[in-house]
Amino acid sequence: MMMRKCFVAYLGFLSLVYGAYSQDGTFDFGPPVEIPMYLSGNFGEIRSSHFHAGIDIKTQGVIGHKILAIADGYVSRIKVQANGYGKALYIAHPNGYTSVYAHLDKFRDDIGQYVKSIQYEQETFEIDLYPNAGAFRVERGQTIALSGNSGGSSGPHLHFEIRDAKQRPLNVLRYPIKITDNVAPVFYSVFLYPFEGGQVDFQYEKIKKKTVKQNEIYGFSGGSIPVYGKFGIGAEIYDYLDGMPNRCGVYSIELKLDGDLMGQFVIERLDFSLLRYVNAHIDYEERQTNRTTVHRLYQLPNNQAGLYHYAQPGGYLEVKDTLEHDIEIVANDAYGNYSTLKFKVKGVHKRDIVEKKKISADAKEMPFDQENSYVLSDFKVKIPKGALYNDIAFNYKKSLPQGNMATTVHHIHTDTEPLHKYIDVSIKPDSHFGPYTDKLTLATVGRNNTLKYQGGAFSNGFVTARVREFGKYTIALDTLPPKIYALNLKNGGHLASNGQIKLIVKDSFSGIKEYRGLIDNKWALFEYDMKNDLMTFDMDEAYFERGQWHQLVFRATDHLNNQATYEIRFYW
Ligand SMILES: [Zn+2]
Repeated sequence: MMMRKCFVAYLGFLSLVYGAYSQDGTFDFGPPVEIPMYLSGNFGEIRSSHFHAGIDIKTQGVIGHKILAIADGYVSRIKVQANGYGKALYIAHPNGYTSVYAHLDKFRDDIGQYVKSIQYEQETFEIDLYPNAGAFRVERGQTIALSGNSGGSSGPHLHFEIRDAKQRPLNVLRYPIKITDNVAPVFYSVFLYPFEGGQVDFQYEKIKKKTVKQNEIYGFSGGSIPVYGKFGIGAEIYDYLDGMPNRCGVYSIELKLDGDLMGQFVIERLDFSLLRYVNAHIDYEERQTNRTTVHRLYQLPNNQAGLYHYAQPGGYLEVKDTLEHDIEIVANDAYGNYSTLKFKVKGVHKRDIVEKKKISADAKEMPFDQENSYVLSDFKVKIPKGALYNDIAFNYKKSLPQGNMATTVHHIHTDTEPLHKYIDVSIKPDSHFGPYTDKLTLATVGRNNTLKYQGGAFSNGFVTARVREFGKYTIALDTLPPKIYALNLKNGGHLASNGQIKLIVKDSFSGIKEYRGLIDNKWALFEYDMKNDLMTFDMDEAYFERGQWHQLVFRATDHLNNQATYEIRFYW
């Protein structure tokens, strides 16, 4: 018999949850842009280590479109960052909700002048301000900024969010916002995962089936899949919106067994402190190796994303007879478009096969619900409780350094296993680095042996860093200072009348930790665009005098304290 004893109780629970989540319909708001809205990203879609907290509205490939307040309110927060949200505005509305507008190019004049005055006062580009309610009032439809590509944006767009009173992002698409979506989600493949000695297709390993669509229903070729014991299901699904090629996320997924609802995943509201659980929601190995998004329709033990309702704890299925059973997966988008996938499983007896050894004989069992460590004479790792999503058989080995690697390569488990929390990794250098000891840092070794900076410093014979990924680690030596040069100015030259200076400030390895630009010995506001290694400064007569010679001194320091100074004389 199938397990379905909790089903009745489960239905009651589900409707209760829906009641609490249902939209009140009282938040009437206008569009945040004047142009037709096309999305390059939607709410809840799976990104690198987070669920997307808003929607990405395309701005026709350019910056400078008007950004409108969606409703009356006041500016409650202004944030400027070299990456992340870039220039962002938060507007508090009388109903307790907040709307968020990110990757902006320019703020409304009065807001912009206020921000600049604080930046000059505090001598910092990055700020995070909370103006009081009376400072900057806005009305519905008023222009509050111009759209841009600032911060960690990979093309001009508006990142837009609506948050509740507890600053939890809500599914914007569930509100009356004018986006056309007639395209249903698309299934690409289905995975079956055996658990606790269970078998799928007479194997102990997960299996993948590519889907085909026939008569509007997805399925796959071949007959029913033999299953024994407990198993879970995963599905590679994307949603698309009208006229756009972008792979977006689904709104909800339902899993049914012989017509009974066994599990549901719904993205109605997110919580910033829980976004990283996306690493447990997806099949992280598939993401790392194939760049595909496979939703697990069961729950890893330490997945606390809070987006699931299951008839059985953990969402596992189990077949205890030798009959055929129907499995159905329904994927919904926020506009009522949906797709269905159907297939059959058949209960079988366990096949007597040898379980493939995925792990070496000396692998160490690490339970997810306790602190774990692995200590050798030249290597240490400490993994705090809650860093793992499930129990693992921890693997470790060494290999010889190559190229720029300053020491042995330590293979810390595998980069296909995700981590929720930071772990402490310590590696002992193979040799002495004398005066360069303070230029040592940890690095991960990628494909083609490329090194990626992971931070850390030398102390007590080890280079130690807090990191959030497993993989191959070594020590790197960084003694190279950043490179600085002007794009539009020569020493002794005349600056264009608009007074804009553009500098490229590039670091080859660890990245820019801090920088300071002085003009005529006064702090100058250089806006840092990290993704483009670009520093932009605008001469402003409020701060600098026009019609004379000026001296620029720009200093940049990388994370290993290698420093570069660039000096130039110019007329403006
Ligand atoms: Zn976004």
